[in-house]
Amino acid sequence: MSISAESLPATPQRSKSARSAKAKEPPPRVPPFHTNTPEDNPVYHDHHCAAAQQIHDPQEGSDVRPLCGLCAHYGYGRYTGWVDTYGKKATDLPANRQTLDGYLARKAELEKQADDPAAKKELAELTAAIEALEPKVDREQRISDRAQHFNDAYKAAIDAGKASGHSTDEVELLADVIMNEAHDKTIGHLARQVLAYAWINRKGGIKQPIYKKGKKGKRDLSHWDQRERRFGKLDKEFEREWYLDSLTDSLKAVTERLSDKLADTDDPAHGATHWYSPDNQPADTPAEERWWENKKEFEEVTIPGVPTGQFRFYKKKKPAPTPPKPH
Ligand SMILES: [Zn+2]
Repeated sequence: MSISAESLPATPQRSKSARSAKAKEPPPRVPPFHTNTPEDNPVYHDHHCAAAQQIHDPQEGSDVRPLCGLCAHYGYGRYTGWVDTYGKKATDLPANRQTLDGYLARKAELEKQADDPAAKKELAELTAAIEALEPKVDREQRISDRAQHFNDAYKAAIDAGKASGHSTDEVELLADVIMNEAHDKTIGHLARQVLAYAWINRKGGIKQPIYKKGKKGKRDLSHWDQRERRFGKLDKEFEREWYLDSLTDSLKAVTERLSDKLADTDDPAHGATHWYSPDNQPADTPAEERWWENKKEFEEVTIPGVPTGQFRFYKKKKPAPTPPKPH
Protein backbone atom coordinates (compact mmCIF):
# COMPACT_ATOMS: atom_id res chain seq x y z
CA MET A 1 0.00 0.00 0.00
CA SER A 2 0.74 3.39 -1.08
CA ILE A 3 3.87 5.28 -1.50
CA SER A 4 3.55 6.76 -4.85
CA ALA A 5 5.97 8.35 -7.28
CA GLU A 6 7.14 7.48 -10.77
CA SER A 7 10.71 7.21 -9.58
CA LEU A 8 10.05 4.39 -7.14
CA PRO A 9 11.57 0.99 -7.72
CA ALA A 10 9.27 -1.99 -7.41
CA THR A 11 8.53 -3.16 -3.91
CA PRO A 12 8.57 -6.74 -2.67
CA GLN A 13 9.31 -9.39 -5.18
CA ARG A 14 6.37 -11.54 -5.94
CA SER A 15 6.44 -15.30 -6.11
CA LYS A 16 7.27 -17.06 -9.35
CA SER A 17 3.72 -18.35 -9.70
CA ALA A 18 2.28 -14.85 -9.24
CA ARG A 19 4.58 -13.55 -11.95
CA SER A 20 3.68 -16.21 -14.48
CA ALA A 21 -0.05 -15.87 -13.78
CA LYS A 22 0.27 -12.13 -14.19
CA ALA A 23 1.86 -12.50 -17.58
CA LYS A 24 -1.48 -13.69 -19.00
CA GLU A 25 -3.61 -10.74 -20.01
CA PRO A 26 -7.30 -11.19 -19.23
CA PRO A 27 -9.43 -12.09 -22.27
CA PRO A 28 -11.59 -9.25 -23.64
CA ARG A 29 -14.79 -8.39 -21.79
CA VAL A 30 -18.03 -8.86 -23.73
CA PRO A 31 -21.73 -8.34 -22.93
CA PRO A 32 -23.15 -11.34 -21.04
CA PHE A 33 -24.01 -14.35 -23.19
CA HIS A 34 -24.60 -18.07 -22.91
CA THR A 35 -25.12 -21.00 -25.21
CA ASN A 36 -28.35 -21.48 -27.06
CA THR A 37 -28.30 -25.24 -26.73
CA PRO A 38 -28.84 -27.42 -23.66
CA GLU A 39 -25.63 -28.04 -21.71
CA ASP A 40 -24.48 -29.91 -18.62
CA ASN A 41 -23.21 -26.84 -16.85
CA PRO A 42 -25.51 -23.91 -17.60
CA VAL A 43 -23.54 -20.75 -16.92
CA TYR A 44 -23.15 -17.37 -18.62
CA HIS A 45 -19.96 -15.64 -19.71
CA ASP A 46 -18.89 -12.01 -19.72
CA HIS A 47 -15.41 -12.52 -21.16
CA HIS A 48 -14.04 -14.40 -24.15
CA CYS A 49 -12.82 -17.11 -21.81
CA ALA A 50 -11.60 -20.50 -23.04
CA ALA A 51 -15.00 -22.10 -22.38
CA ALA A 52 -16.89 -19.29 -24.13
CA GLN A 53 -14.78 -19.62 -27.26
CA GLN A 54 -16.45 -22.96 -27.92
CA ILE A 55 -19.89 -21.39 -28.16
CA HIS A 56 -20.97 -21.02 -31.77
CA ASP A 57 -24.55 -19.93 -31.39
CA PRO A 58 -24.54 -17.52 -28.46
CA GLN A 59 -27.60 -16.01 -26.88
CA GLU A 60 -27.40 -12.60 -25.25
CA GLY A 61 -27.98 -12.03 -21.54
CA SER A 62 -27.16 -13.75 -18.31
CA ASP A 63 -30.47 -15.66 -18.05
CA VAL A 64 -30.77 -16.85 -14.44
CA ARG A 65 -27.47 -18.70 -14.60
CA PRO A 66 -24.41 -18.28 -12.42
CA LEU A 67 -21.29 -16.70 -13.92
CA CYS A 68 -18.83 -19.10 -15.57
CA GLY A 69 -16.00 -20.08 -13.21
CA LEU A 70 -13.31 -18.98 -15.69
CA CYS A 71 -14.97 -15.61 -16.34
CA ALA A 72 -15.25 -15.08 -12.59
CA HIS A 73 -11.47 -14.78 -12.48
CA TYR A 74 -11.66 -11.57 -14.47
CA GLY A 75 -13.30 -8.29 -13.62
CA TYR A 76 -15.68 -7.99 -10.69
CA GLY A 77 -17.18 -11.40 -11.34
CA ARG A 78 -14.81 -12.50 -8.58
CA TYR A 79 -16.83 -10.41 -6.14
CA THR A 80 -20.37 -10.66 -7.53
CA GLY A 81 -20.11 -14.46 -7.63
CA TRP A 82 -19.01 -14.62 -4.01
CA VAL A 83 -21.69 -12.13 -2.93
CA ASP A 84 -24.39 -14.24 -4.62
CA THR A 85 -23.37 -17.31 -2.64
CA TYR A 86 -22.86 -15.30 0.53
CA GLY A 87 -26.27 -13.59 0.19
CA LYS A 88 -27.97 -17.00 0.04
CA LYS A 89 -27.07 -17.51 3.69
CA ALA A 90 -29.83 -15.00 4.41
CA THR A 91 -32.48 -16.84 2.38
CA ASP A 92 -34.41 -17.76 5.55
CA LEU A 93 -34.35 -14.21 6.87
CA PRO A 94 -38.01 -13.29 6.07
CA ALA A 95 -39.34 -16.51 7.61
CA ASN A 96 -37.09 -16.29 10.66
CA ARG A 97 -37.94 -12.63 11.14
CA GLN A 98 -41.63 -13.49 11.05
CA THR A 99 -41.19 -16.29 13.57
CA LEU A 100 -39.21 -13.98 15.86
CA ASP A 101 -41.86 -11.25 15.62
CA GLY A 102 -44.49 -13.87 16.57
CA TYR A 103 -42.43 -14.96 19.58
CA LEU A 104 -41.97 -11.37 20.74
CA ALA A 105 -45.68 -10.60 20.44
CA ARG A 106 -46.55 -13.75 22.40
CA LYS A 107 -43.92 -12.87 25.01
CA ALA A 108 -45.51 -9.46 25.53
CA GLU A 109 -48.90 -11.16 26.10
CA LEU A 110 -47.46 -13.69 28.55
CA GLU A 111 -45.73 -11.01 30.57
CA LYS A 112 -49.13 -9.60 31.44
CA GLN A 113 -50.10 -12.95 32.99
CA ALA A 114 -47.00 -13.43 35.09
CA ASP A 115 -49.03 -14.80 38.03
CA ASP A 116 -50.29 -17.77 36.02
CA PRO A 117 -47.87 -20.76 36.45
CA ALA A 118 -48.62 -22.11 32.94
CA ALA A 119 -47.89 -18.69 31.45
CA LYS A 120 -44.71 -18.49 33.49
CA LYS A 121 -43.53 -21.84 32.11
CA GLU A 122 -44.34 -20.89 28.51
CA LEU A 123 -42.61 -17.57 29.02
CA ALA A 124 -39.39 -19.28 30.13
CA GLU A 125 -39.43 -21.55 27.06
CA LEU A 126 -40.23 -18.68 24.79
CA THR A 127 -37.44 -16.53 26.21
CA ALA A 128 -34.96 -19.32 25.51
CA ALA A 129 -36.26 -19.67 21.95
CA ILE A 130 -35.95 -15.91 21.40
CA GLU A 131 -32.42 -15.88 22.72
CA ALA A 132 -31.52 -18.64 20.28
CA LEU A 133 -33.23 -17.07 17.27
CA GLU A 134 -32.35 -13.39 17.72
CA PRO A 135 -28.61 -13.65 16.94
CA LYS A 136 -29.41 -15.78 13.90
CA VAL A 137 -31.82 -13.17 12.56
CA ASP A 138 -29.33 -10.36 13.30
CA ARG A 139 -26.61 -12.24 11.44
CA GLU A 140 -28.87 -12.92 8.46
CA GLN A 141 -29.89 -9.26 8.40
CA ARG A 142 -26.24 -8.15 8.31
CA ILE A 143 -25.50 -10.60 5.48
CA SER A 144 -28.51 -9.44 3.53
CA ASP A 145 -27.65 -5.75 4.05
CA ARG A 146 -23.99 -6.20 3.16
CA ALA A 147 -24.79 -8.09 -0.06
CA GLN A 148 -27.44 -5.53 -0.98
CA HIS A 149 -25.15 -2.55 -0.29
CA PHE A 150 -22.40 -4.05 -2.44
CA ASN A 151 -24.73 -4.87 -5.33
CA ASP A 152 -26.29 -1.39 -5.18
CA ALA A 153 -22.90 0.35 -5.01
CA TYR A 154 -21.54 -1.69 -7.93
CA LYS A 155 -24.58 -0.98 -10.08
CA ALA A 156 -24.50 2.74 -9.23
CA ALA A 157 -20.79 2.93 -10.13
CA ILE A 158 -21.35 1.18 -13.48
CA ASP A 159 -24.27 3.54 -14.19
CA ALA A 160 -22.19 6.60 -13.25
CA GLY A 161 -19.47 5.25 -15.54
CA LYS A 162 -21.89 4.86 -18.45
CA ALA A 163 -23.27 8.35 -17.92
CA SER A 164 -19.77 9.84 -17.94
CA GLY A 165 -18.45 7.79 -20.87
CA HIS A 166 -16.45 5.24 -18.88
CA SER A 167 -16.40 1.51 -19.54
CA THR A 168 -17.00 -1.16 -16.91
CA ASP A 169 -13.26 -1.93 -17.02
CA GLU A 170 -12.45 1.71 -16.22
CA VAL A 171 -14.95 1.87 -13.36
CA GLU A 172 -13.51 -1.32 -11.86
CA LEU A 173 -9.97 -0.06 -12.40
CA LEU A 174 -10.58 3.14 -10.46
CA ALA A 175 -12.13 1.14 -7.59
CA ASP A 176 -9.14 -1.23 -7.73
CA VAL A 177 -6.71 1.70 -7.46
CA ILE A 178 -8.57 2.94 -4.37
CA MET A 179 -8.58 -0.55 -2.90
CA ASN A 180 -4.88 -0.99 -3.58
CA GLU A 181 -4.29 2.08 -1.46
CA ALA A 182 -7.13 1.93 1.05
CA HIS A 183 -8.53 -1.57 1.55
CA ASP A 184 -7.96 -1.37 5.29
CA LYS A 185 -11.23 -1.17 7.19
CA THR A 186 -9.97 1.62 9.43
CA ILE A 187 -9.77 4.03 6.49
CA GLY A 188 -12.66 6.46 6.19
CA HIS A 189 -14.77 7.41 3.20
CA LEU A 190 -13.21 10.85 2.69
CA ALA A 191 -9.76 9.32 2.11
CA ARG A 192 -11.19 6.97 -0.52
CA GLN A 193 -13.04 9.83 -2.16
CA VAL A 194 -9.88 11.96 -2.28
CA LEU A 195 -7.96 9.01 -3.79
CA ALA A 196 -10.55 8.73 -6.60
CA TYR A 197 -10.04 12.40 -7.48
CA ALA A 198 -6.28 12.33 -7.01
CA TRP A 199 -5.80 9.37 -9.35
CA ILE A 200 -7.72 11.11 -12.12
CA ASN A 201 -5.88 14.36 -11.35
CA ARG A 202 -2.62 12.54 -11.76
CA LYS A 203 -3.40 10.55 -14.89
CA GLY A 204 -5.80 12.92 -16.62
CA GLY A 205 -8.38 10.12 -16.70
CA ILE A 206 -8.86 6.58 -15.50
CA LYS A 207 -5.63 4.99 -16.64
CA GLN A 208 -3.69 1.92 -15.60
CA PRO A 209 -0.89 2.44 -13.11
CA ILE A 210 2.60 2.06 -14.53
CA TYR A 211 3.53 -1.55 -13.95
CA LYS A 212 6.86 -2.93 -15.02
CA LYS A 213 7.82 -6.43 -14.04
CA GLY A 214 10.92 -7.34 -12.12
CA LYS A 215 12.77 -6.08 -9.13
CA LYS A 216 13.86 -2.84 -10.72
CA GLY A 217 10.65 -2.31 -12.66
CA LYS A 218 9.07 1.08 -12.14
CA ARG A 219 5.62 1.29 -10.65
CA ASP A 220 3.61 4.23 -9.58
CA LEU A 221 1.60 2.33 -6.98
CA SER A 222 3.37 0.04 -4.55
CA HIS A 223 1.95 -3.47 -4.43
CA TRP A 224 -0.12 -2.89 -7.56
CA ASP A 225 -0.87 -6.00 -9.54
CA GLN A 226 -2.85 -6.04 -12.76
CA ARG A 227 -5.09 -8.70 -11.32
CA GLU A 228 -6.30 -8.13 -7.79
CA ARG A 229 -5.53 -11.17 -5.66
CA ARG A 230 -6.08 -10.03 -2.11
CA PHE A 231 -9.72 -11.04 -1.86
CA GLY A 232 -9.07 -14.57 -3.15
CA LYS A 233 -6.37 -15.05 -0.55
CA LEU A 234 -8.65 -14.22 2.40
CA ASP A 235 -9.90 -17.49 3.80
CA LYS A 236 -11.92 -16.28 6.78
CA GLU A 237 -15.44 -15.05 6.15
CA PHE A 238 -15.14 -12.01 8.41
CA GLU A 239 -12.04 -10.91 6.49
CA ARG A 240 -13.97 -11.13 3.25
CA GLU A 241 -16.83 -9.16 4.86
CA TRP A 242 -14.46 -6.36 5.87
CA TYR A 243 -12.90 -6.36 2.44
CA LEU A 244 -16.31 -6.18 0.81
CA ASP A 245 -17.30 -3.25 3.03
CA SER A 246 -14.17 -1.37 1.94
CA LEU A 247 -14.90 -2.25 -1.69
CA THR A 248 -18.49 -1.03 -1.37
CA ASP A 249 -17.19 2.24 0.06
CA SER A 250 -14.62 2.53 -2.74
CA LEU A 251 -17.33 2.02 -5.36
CA LYS A 252 -19.32 4.83 -3.74
CA ALA A 253 -16.24 7.06 -4.03
CA VAL A 254 -15.99 6.13 -7.73
CA THR A 255 -19.64 7.02 -8.25
CA GLU A 256 -19.17 10.37 -6.52
CA ARG A 257 -16.16 11.25 -8.65
CA LEU A 258 -17.71 10.13 -11.93
CA SER A 259 -20.99 11.92 -11.20
CA ASP A 260 -19.20 15.15 -10.35
CA LYS A 261 -19.64 17.49 -13.29
CA LEU A 262 -17.74 20.25 -11.49
CA ALA A 263 -14.76 18.13 -10.51
CA ASP A 264 -12.30 20.94 -11.21
CA THR A 265 -13.86 23.28 -8.68
CA ASP A 266 -15.31 20.70 -6.25
CA ASP A 267 -12.19 18.59 -6.04
CA PRO A 268 -11.90 17.42 -2.39
CA ALA A 269 -8.27 16.51 -3.23
CA HIS A 270 -7.55 20.18 -4.05
CA GLY A 271 -5.47 19.17 -7.03
CA ALA A 272 -3.44 16.53 -5.19
CA THR A 273 -1.89 13.93 -7.49
CA HIS A 274 0.42 12.00 -5.16
CA TRP A 275 0.27 10.56 -1.67
CA TYR A 276 2.01 8.29 0.73
CA SER A 277 1.04 6.52 3.94
CA PRO A 278 3.28 7.53 6.87
CA ASP A 279 1.94 4.75 9.12
CA ASN A 280 2.90 2.10 6.57
CA GLN A 281 6.21 3.61 5.62
CA PRO A 282 9.21 1.54 6.71
CA ALA A 283 11.44 3.65 8.95
CA ASP A 284 14.47 2.68 6.87
CA THR A 285 13.05 3.95 3.56
CA PRO A 286 16.10 5.21 1.65
CA ALA A 287 16.35 8.96 1.17
CA GLU A 288 16.09 8.68 -2.63
CA GLU A 289 12.67 7.06 -2.25
CA ARG A 290 11.34 9.78 0.01
CA TRP A 291 10.04 11.82 -2.90
CA TRP A 292 7.65 13.72 -0.60
CA GLU A 293 10.63 15.38 1.03
CA ASN A 294 11.62 16.90 -2.29
CA LYS A 295 10.34 20.41 -1.58
CA LYS A 296 11.48 21.65 -4.97
CA GLU A 297 9.14 19.33 -6.79
CA PHE A 298 6.24 18.66 -4.40
CA GLU A 299 4.07 20.71 -2.11
CA GLU A 300 1.77 19.19 0.49
CA VAL A 301 -1.98 19.52 0.15
CA THR A 302 -3.72 19.57 3.51
CA ILE A 303 -6.98 17.66 3.60
CA PRO A 304 -8.76 18.12 6.93
CA GLY A 305 -10.59 14.96 7.92
CA VAL A 306 -8.04 12.51 6.58
CA PRO A 307 -5.69 11.40 9.39
CA THR A 308 -2.16 12.38 8.35
CA GLY A 309 -0.84 9.06 9.63
CA GLN A 310 -2.97 7.30 7.04
CA PHE A 311 -2.32 9.59 4.07
CA ARG A 312 -0.45 12.73 3.22
CA PHE A 313 -1.27 14.24 -0.15
CA TYR A 314 0.93 16.24 -2.51
CA LYS A 315 0.90 17.98 -5.84
CA LYS A 316 3.75 18.93 -8.09
CA LYS A 317 4.82 22.53 -7.85
CA LYS A 318 4.23 24.68 -10.86
CA PRO A 319 7.52 25.86 -12.32
CA ALA A 320 8.32 29.36 -11.08
CA PRO A 321 7.77 31.99 -13.77
CA THR A 322 11.03 32.98 -15.45
CA PRO A 323 12.00 36.47 -14.39
CA PRO A 324 11.98 39.01 -17.23
CA LYS A 325 15.38 39.54 -18.77
CA PRO A 326 17.00 42.84 -17.87
CA HIS A 327 17.31 45.26 -20.79
ZN1 LIG B 1 -16.54 -17.92 -19.24
